[in-house]
Amino acid sequence: MIYLDNNATTPLDPRVQDKMTEFLKEHFGNPSSLYPIGRAVKEIITEARDTVARALGAKRTEIFFTASGTESDNFAIRGVIDALPEKNEIITSEIEHPAVIEMANYFERKGLKVTFVPVDQYGTIDIKRLKEAISPKTAIISIMHANNELGTIQPIRDVVNLAKEKGILVHTDAVQSFGKINVNVDKLGVDLLTISAHKIYGPKGIGALYIRKGTNIMPLIYGGHQERLMRAGTENTIGIVGFGEATRFVIEQGEKDKNRIENLASMLKNGIEEKIPKVKFNGPEQNRIKGTINFSFPGLEAEAILLSLATKDIYVSTGSACSEDSEEVSHVLSAIGLRPEIARSSVRISLGRFNKKEDIHVVLEELPEIVKKLREISALDINDS
Ligand code: PLP
Repeated sequence: MIYLDNNATTPLDPRVQDKMTEFLKEHFGNPSSLYPIGRAVKEIITEARDTVARALGAKRTEIFFTASGTESDNFAIRGVIDALPEKNEIITSEIEHPAVIEMANYFERKGLKVTFVPVDQYGTIDIKRLKEAISPKTAIISIMHANNELGTIQPIRDVVNLAKEKGILVHTDAVQSFGKINVNVDKLGVDLLTISAHKIYGPKGIGALYIRKGTNIMPLIYGGHQERLMRAGTENTIGIVGFGEATRFVIEQGEKDKNRIENLASMLKNGIEEKIPKVKFNGPEQNRIKGTINFSFPGLEAEAILLSLATKDIYVSTGSACSEDSEEVSHVLSAIGLRPEIARSSVRISLGRFNKKEDIHVVLEELPEIVKKLREISALDINDS
């Protein structure tokens, strides 16, 4: 199998799996219990929290485990809106993940003002439009760090500089940047930051929200005393263990992974451009997560390319995994100005830690053939009709 859909999810790193298995065999205690088997689990959770904090340049007490990147995004926005009833405006962008867009839509339906800042042809937010949208009523600005479909890295520092002048909180969804490029909460200057374990070779169903000390925010889930009263519910201990271990490898080999993936990605991108005529690359050359490659194949349906590749055991995506089973055109590709038929011809290839040079060679053999065949079929269709 050649797995090239690492932005949708990543395989569990076998070392993470080992750590989780070992934990499952040895521990079942509730971390809230005061006796030793509970205490032991609490300590293990603290270790994982320390690791996540270290990776982000944060303090341990600023990391709150959640059930997903989606929950962390909801928590950040809803938590701030709940905490600041005197403010009723949200600023976000047109290319956010549905976890942010749908939360913003919910508040729009509730009567809050939401500005979806547009992006340019490369998927970079229009900072001027963002500045114009800021008002004394703005509670939060939520702009993603890197886009899941294009890989575009946003100028978060510039957003923060604008927001801080006015005392506005800034959240960034770093689900697609964490583990791929350096993500440091102080360098970015954000108040809130979302990450998710299953994008960094950890388990699914576990995420975290970084909350800068002193940030005015309310919980999303109420109940027990877990997560310092900010996220109730008995902890997903096995998930946290996996997240911690996966993060350890981000710290230890993130830079090495990045260089390797970038080399493979540039081989693949250049190869596609050389071997397949009339392809259109989507996204910026610079300021991009280089392992994310998005191409349009005008005249073809991306789904046909995806399914043909799948018969060869090669897995790519037609956009974000969440929009896969809907007929709708990707909102990200629409936002960068692609016509619907071009957007529908777009394939996302996302590389990861376990891809090898050999994978790239195989794709560069198979993909041009597939595109050639599909083009021949579609030419026949046109001639027939
Ligand atoms: N944000 C971005 C940018 C994502 O790509 C994803 C996952 O696709 C999420 C949030 C949601 O994360 P999770 O799958 O952990 O809910």
